[in-house]
Amino acid sequence: MRTGTITGDLVRWYEAARRDLPWRLDSDPYRIWVSEVMLQQTRVEAVIPYFERFMGRFPTLDSLAAADGDEVDKFWEGLGYYSRARNLHSAVREVCERYEGTVPASYDDFRSLPGVGDYTAGAVLSIAYNQPLPAVDGNVLRVIARLFAIPDDVMSQKTRKTVVGIVSGLLPVGRASAFNQALMELGALLCMPKSPHCAECPVAHHCAARQRGLQTSLPVRARKSAPKDVHLTAVLAQTADDGSILVRRRPARGLLAGLWEIPNWAAPEPNSVDLETTVLSAARSQALSNMEPLRGRRLEEMHCLGQYTHTFSHRRWIMSVYHAQVDARSHCREPYRWVDRQERTMYTFGQVFNKIFREHLAQ
Ligand code: SF4
Repeated sequence: MRTGTITGDLVRWYEAARRDLPWRLDSDPYRIWVSEVMLQQTRVEAVIPYFERFMGRFPTLDSLAAADGDEVDKFWEGLGYYSRARNLHSAVREVCERYEGTVPASYDDFRSLPGVGDYTAGAVLSIAYNQPLPAVDGNVLRVIARLFAIPDDVMSQKTRKTVVGIVSGLLPVGRASAFNQALMELGALLCMPKSPHCAECPVAHHCAARQRGLQTSLPVRARKSAPKDVHLTAVLAQTADDGSILVRRRPARGLLAGLWEIPNWAAPEPNSVDLETTVLSAARSQALSNMEPLRGRRLEEMHCLGQYTHTFSHRRWIMSVYHAQVDARSHCREPYRWVDRQERTMYTFGQVFNKIFREHLAQ
């Protein structure tokens, strides 16, 4: 197999077939950086509207650096994995302070910024500055594992290193930007996970997996352990007079750090609920003891809204949600807050809570 030919065939195909994506309008490193951060864990089609909206509000690195963190969260809402936004925000502030607002072209300087790993550094610096750096994400791992018929688990560090070595060896002088994007584009448009379009592939005649009929059995991925189930009870307390709801800010570290939520807590073990007590009244007494602003109040018309699940990478929330009516707002302090409909739109909530709002509250 002549690797030089893979490179030439790929780059030629990319120049003819590349999609017009909003972050490809120019080689502004800030725009490319934001797009790369958004694209981690999220598909291109899903990212486009978020990218446009984010860029409409924060068109320059300086404007993002000057923004308030809560506003950045709000413009990230729906993309999930908020730590990406927080790191990006801290990193652009550091770029303003240390590099006069210019994304550093030095690998070591850029790689040392918050949230910037090997992939992001390689992708941004190669695409924006044409630096000969590999950018190996899930798409590239799959494409290279097939092209070279790599039989090992692509999730292992050892295989990733092998792939990084192969990509580094293929990088054409002066064309790193086009080559890395070509590999990503091939993975997105033709060399898809389930049914690769080998008949249209520009490098099919180099592909070891195709020659051996292994396209759909590669790459090899070790089975991930299933996320752990976490049972929760949530109570959506709402005032009878103006429909305000009680919300709570999550801790600054951990899952959905710093976002807002419907107050919730670990559901009682089934055998710890007194046989005489219904699940509903268990939720009521938990609400009164766990939610400080409700202590001493009467919860009227409490009923179950349903069960909601949300899967994170390592755990799955199974949340029983109850609605409770109280007469009016009570005194509350951090991390709780009463918010009316208008105020609610200014806070950033995790996806599962927005779904509950959409289904049960007037928008
Ligand atoms: S020939 Fe098929 S499996 Fe091989 S790189 Fe092309 S699309 Fe992927």
